Amino acid sequence: MHTFKIAIVGAGPAGYFTALALQNAQTDKRTFAIDMIERLPTPWGLVRSGVAPDHPKIKTISKVFERIAKEPNFRLFANVELGKDVSLRDLRDQYDAVVLSTGASKGRKLGIPGEELANSLSAADFVPWYNAHPDYVKTKVDLSNETAVVIGAGNVAMDVARILAIDPTELDPTDVAEHALVKLKNSNIRRVIICGRRGPEHAAFTASELRDLPKLKNTDIYIDKKQISDASIRIEQAGEIEKDLKSNLEAMKLISERSKKGFTRKLEIKFLAAPVEIVGNKKVEEVIFSINKVIDGKIISTKETFSIKTGLVITAIGYDAVEYQGITINNGRINNIAGHVEHNIYTTGWAKRGPTGVIGTNKSDSSDVVDLIIANLKEPKVSEGITALLKSGFEVIDQLAWEKINASEVISGEMAGKPRVKEVDWKRLIRLGRS
Ligand code: NAP
Repeated sequence: MHTFKIAIVGAGPAGYFTALALQNAQTDKRTFAIDMIERLPTPWGLVRSGVAPDHPKIKTISKVFERIAKEPNFRLFANVELGKDVSLRDLRDQYDAVVLSTGASKGRKLGIPGEELANSLSAADFVPWYNAHPDYVKTKVDLSNETAVVIGAGNVAMDVARILAIDPTELDPTDVAEHALVKLKNSNIRRVIICGRRGPEHAAFTASELRDLPKLKNTDIYIDKKQISDASIRIEQAGEIEKDLKSNLEAMKLISERSKKGFTRKLEIKFLAAPVEIVGNKKVEEVIFSINKVIDGKIISTKETFSIKTGLVITAIGYDAVEYQGITINNGRINNIAGHVEHNIYTTGWAKRGPTGVIGTNKSDSSDVVDLIIANLKEPKVSEGITALLKSGFEVIDQLAWEKINASEVISGEMAGKPRVKEVDWKRLIRLGRS
């Protein structure tokens, strides 16, 4: 019987699905001792700090993560930072394989003038702010203007726009960060405009997200009918229509044909609007867009422009993986071939393939990488694993400590009629784990 030591860095969906694939690949002759290393004092990655608070169903995947963590061959080492508390080189030497499931948390930039103005934010800062990520509590968000612009036509743009546009009392029964809820309740924002640079037929939203929009109880949703009918004509002319695209367009058509209920809160989706400049005196005041056209399936920029007066711009245009010592980032991802980085180092999830796919996408993706790891394993190393690397007395949040944090948050939530009240302070999180 061989027991191989595997370190997984990053306790998000990709990390847990890698652990699950390893657990499922155990045989009479081969087992794995899995150590999951996480920088934050809490696990679950984007399920905790990315998924929108008004989408609790998506978060139920955490039950699967906890089942994985309960297996005897799994250990959690949270509050341990790669590159600071342990080096990649040391992990490489101590473990039979190291899997980097570190995600992609750096918001991509538009690269247009004015992007650096105050209240021009990336979704990479705004989303963890409303989701109580300890590093983003202090993100400066000013909601005093009546209009907000969200740039990008993907599901993150949709999440951001929805959080800004809904009546904040709808967030009362959720696990939204307390500091964000207070701010949202005092928000003056009543009109949120999502701007996509290409046509409706190119939007990255998923149909289920689009279909949920008209269900909002206190917000009118608006898409220009002509933009949808023009897109429908274009794709019909182009030939066969893919199923997902058809569902997306149907969902957008329904929205465009709906009669407005006259709510003061409005969420609008505009297409063919490419941001060219953010204008303002120290702070965002206006966004200038050039109007694009679709000609023969290609996006053509016109000389026509329009502008939106706004006090807040949030860009949701994708993410890049964060660099750290010993790792090369190429095109926003850890440089890898089918998940293999170099030597006994592998990668899964957004760090491997870029910021695409829903949580479930990580299941098959991680499983493929685990097959590759197994194919490359030979004799297990004789080594101590992470215990040889951490200084004595190092404050690790292990599974037991995390369960204490989790229970405390859930109990606070029960009293407040919420699934949990998230603790945002790093030191208090550690104290809860010690309690
Ligand atoms: P995304 O789906 O890739 O969408 C990014 C959007 O940004 C696209 O519309 C893209 O337009 C636009 N964009 C990129 N560069 C731009 C630029 N320079 N100027 C203007 N627009 C630009 O990324 P995402 O929204 O960050 O989502 C990431 C992944 O997470 C996706 O797979 C998404 O489905 C998933 N997710 C799922 C959920 C859910 O299931 N509820 C929630 C959130 C996220 P072009 O197409 O023209 O490049």
